[in-house]
Amino acid sequence: METWQKQLSQSVTKVKDLPFLPDLSGEYKEKLEKIAKKFPIRINSYFLEQVKSTDDPLWKQVVPTLEEMDDWLEDEDLQESDPLNEEGDMPVPELVHRYPDRVLLMLNNQCPIICRFCTRKRKIGFPGIVTRETLRQGIEYIRDHPEVRDVIMSGGDPLLVPDKELERILSELRSIPHLDIIRIGTRVPGTLPERITEKLCAMLKNFHPLYANLHFNHPAEITPEVEKACNRLADTGIPLGSQTVLLKGINDDPKIMRELVHKLLKIRVKPYYIYQADITAGATHFRTAVEKGLDIIRDLMGHTSGMAVPYFVIDAPGGGGKIRLLPNSVIEHNEREVIVKNYEGKVFRYPQPRKKDKVSVSPESAKHAPMCEMA
Ligand SMILES: *Cc1c(COP(=O)(O)O)cnc(C)c1O
Repeated sequence: METWQKQLSQSVTKVKDLPFLPDLSGEYKEKLEKIAKKFPIRINSYFLEQVKSTDDPLWKQVVPTLEEMDDWLEDEDLQESDPLNEEGDMPVPELVHRYPDRVLLMLNNQCPIICRFCTRKRKIGFPGIVTRETLRQGIEYIRDHPEVRDVIMSGGDPLLVPDKELERILSELRSIPHLDIIRIGTRVPGTLPERITEKLCAMLKNFHPLYANLHFNHPAEITPEVEKACNRLADTGIPLGSQTVLLKGINDDPKIMRELVHKLLKIRVKPYYIYQADITAGATHFRTAVEKGLDIIRDLMGHTSGMAVPYFVIDAPGGGGKIRLLPNSVIEHNEREVIVKNYEGKVFRYPQPRKKDKVSVSPESAKHAPMCEMA
């Protein structure tokens, strides 16, 4: 097995080096190369080895298509470079403070693979954005803001930071008394699992309480190597969550999502969020109707372990933050009762607590009796 550094240095970054494309016309390849100039390609050698064909869900996440090109060019106004207006919530460079008690700190702008639907593509692959100095300012900001009790180390991907440097950053964060928890937001365990070395884990262990949210979009990403990496992180005592981006033609199917969440629980990763794909330049062809996410949640809720059901989230454009959406379960409510629907579509009356001075109701009418059945 190659080291992770080697797997990363052997990344494919040019269209001409992509396998499976030998028959395509020079013109097609030229167009793809043009896209790669706007938004780089990176597929590390571990990830590429998992790809079976151009229909592969892994391939589709990392290789540009003509649709991506068309989307960049179609309508300048629609070309969102910062769909969540993160720049508008940065009190210091590369630190997003959007919610009252937690911040997102970017440690770098390097990733183990580059996802075509990246919400932060404005930063990826440009040198000199995240620097020692921006990091220093970010940590100082957290030190100066006692309301911040939770920091999410993000990027880029924080687990591509070398051990020594990561240790230095974690030490500095841990010297801030009001900071309760440190979270790691990373796609490394699923896309460059060799990076999760025993040495890294031994170092991380010194900085608890640590949490990690990983990024998985398809069950095919869960290989024996990935399982080993996740188990190793879990054995280090880091609770693991997963964030998934809902992607048309890749995972917008309740059957695939069910397989994904079941496989995740088996490798000790709790599904946390499913995100509606953001309105980011060059990624319109990945977007699904909002109902699709609700369909997937409806398919999971009650039908499988509650532990397996993530929250479906849309990130409000312009910086409104995450908003959780749920399939409707309340049909009607008033001060006497709520009328609710269970996972099978059966409808129930649920009585509210009665006020003491009101006429008491007989136990009979307060029973949770099914009212009617729905198809
Ligand atoms: C997602 C996010 C967080 C964390 O949100 P949680 O719901 O607490 O997981 C914090 N800051 C920013 C800017 C985010 O996008």
